[in-house]
Amino acid sequence: MKISDLGEFAFIDRVSKGSLHRKDGVIAGIGDDCAVFRVSDHLAILLTADMLIEDVHFRRGEIPAELLGRKSLAASISDIAAMGGTPREAFVSIGIPENFETEYLDKIYGGLNSIAAEFEINVLGGDTVLSPDRLVMNVALTGEARETEILYRKGAMVGDIVFITGEPGLSSAGLDLLRNNRDFANKELFLAAHFDPVPQTKAGRILASTGKAHSLIDISDGLAADLGHICGQSGVGAIVEINKIPLAAELREYCRQFRLDIENFVLHGGEDYILLGTAPEKHSPDIESSLKSGGCRYFPIGRITDGASLTLIAGDGGRQELKLRGYDHFRK
Ligand code: ADP
Ligand code: MG
Repeated sequence: MKISDLGEFAFIDRVSKGSLHRKDGVIAGIGDDCAVFRVSDHLAILLTADMLIEDVHFRRGEIPAELLGRKSLAASISDIAAMGGTPREAFVSIGIPENFETEYLDKIYGGLNSIAAEFEINVLGGDTVLSPDRLVMNVALTGEARETEILYRKGAMVGDIVFITGEPGLSSAGLDLLRNNRDFANKELFLAAHFDPVPQTKAGRILASTGKAHSLIDISDGLAADLGHICGQSGVGAIVEINKIPLAAELREYCRQFRLDIENFVLHGGEDYILLGTAPEKHSPDIESSLKSGGCRYFPIGRITDGASLTLIAGDGGRQELKLRGYDHFRK
């Protein structure tokens, strides 16, 4: 069998079988935004890793080196945020092609250290190796959380409100703009969302510490696919109203100008790194006011249902299946 027949997620599922060889202290292994293990009575450590490969995740001529450094750490910080933790210590490994410019590497590390400083993260180690022709980066990051506060993908319950903490689709509009060489008045907003996403650790901490949310994930694969991850792991379905999803005015204008389907950006665009979660309806007002008083945003967009199907209420009120179409590295 070829990996393209199996797909990324079935492969991860296979890997997860037989992966634990000492179970004490392990709270969560493969399958969520981070692994979780206990270090003391109340304290748990979160652990996540993300790899970026040139020409798969980025193009060297497209992303400024400083922002490549920032984004490589931002993706991992976002995974810690998605569990409600505080990011702590990083390990950064890099595969470098022969004769690569050191100035470029200095800029990557300049960017990486700038975001590490903003989030008070130490870079405690890593590995440096020769890569045949493409630049490869891997960031592993730990985070800290009270065991009882951690939010998982698997906690959604029937009747929960589905919410997001920002406007989706801006990062994929940035990618679309680059791929199609489009000129647009507000393109800096999209490029910033794509190259320099801001991980929402503050929203994650507020959601975890109020203790009122049931589940949480960050939108890295796309709103629909990541809601699919919550539903799959919680054994529930969901219904989302397209009219409730906040749409940035610039994204509306972009899609109008270039005759593009805005739903595609909003539902299936990845790498937004905003948070998607669920919470009981009765706690929705409290959660909203806690997030807002912390300078964060809250948009209820739907509801958790029983069954396993994901439904979209379209603009005209009609119901349709919410297709997942998440990004799988191997299935095309
Ligand atoms: P995210 O999009 O949040 O980074 P992924 O889809 O990459 O999450 O990973 C899902 C889960 O699978 C995580 O728990 C991750 O640690 C685990 N995982 C991914 N690849 C591997 C692998 N090769 N070996 C073991 N675990 C893996
Ligand atoms: Mg994630």
